[in-house]
Amino acid sequence: MIDRRPAVALNVVMLGPPGAGKGTQAERFARSHDLPKISTGDILREAIHADTQLGRSAKATIYAGGLVGDDVMIGIVRERLGRSDARRGFVLDGFPRTVVQATALDEMMDGRGPLVIVDIRVPKEVLLRRLAARRICGTCGVNAQVDWMTSCGNCGGELVHRKDDNEAIVAERLTVYDRQTKPIVEFYASRPTFRAIDGNQPPDSVAGAMEAAICHASKVTGEARA
Ligand code: AMP
Repeated sequence: MIDRRPAVALNVVMLGPPGAGKGTQAERFARSHDLPKISTGDILREAIHADTQLGRSAKATIYAGGLVGDDVMIGIVRERLGRSDARRGFVLDGFPRTVVQATALDEMMDGRGPLVIVDIRVPKEVLLRRLAARRICGTCGVNAQVDWMTSCGNCGGELVHRKDDNEAIVAERLTVYDRQTKPIVEFYASRPTFRAIDGNQPPDSVAGAMEAAICHASKVTGEARA
């Protein structure tokens, strides 16, 4: 097998509103580059499922479409990035979601190599359509394509609607995105490692655009260091 892992750590942050395809694309990219995909939404859903203290305290906020506190989220990501499998890079999905989190991530990146930021852009009406159709596995939590799958391709579990994908909560999540998360696009936009890509195309095309964008952004940082 060809080792596609780069000599310099490949640290990727995926930005984009709910339904943009961050999770799917993060999973794909992480798998093909042998990097851990770190999804804060998945971590929180697992905590709810396991009924841990974190899960119990975050549940109401998540099901109302709000954001879990910055200190909690920063602590979770700091701990996760400290594990050995993240040393050669990672793909972050769902973090940062506020400027406070983005600032904390910059501090965590000290000495770890550059951060490549990919912003997936999708029109709002497409997001609404996708979120209404989205199903996840009730057992392992992976996303499913409802139009052609009847059970989870990963574990065979039953496909269910995500509790926070109902109409009212989706509206709140998109409002929260505009108010609290969109400002981090500005926070990152002037960096040479920032790339925006069109998420309103078939998943294979988005994956190709992402691969090219990340490859290009990594070269920029390589040249800057040379
Ligand atoms: P996601 O699966 O990324 O859409 O996340 C689901 C929910 O988890 C969000 O609507 C938030 O309530 C919570 N969440 C996930 N990541 C974060 C984060 N970085 N900061 C605050 N809340 C988060």
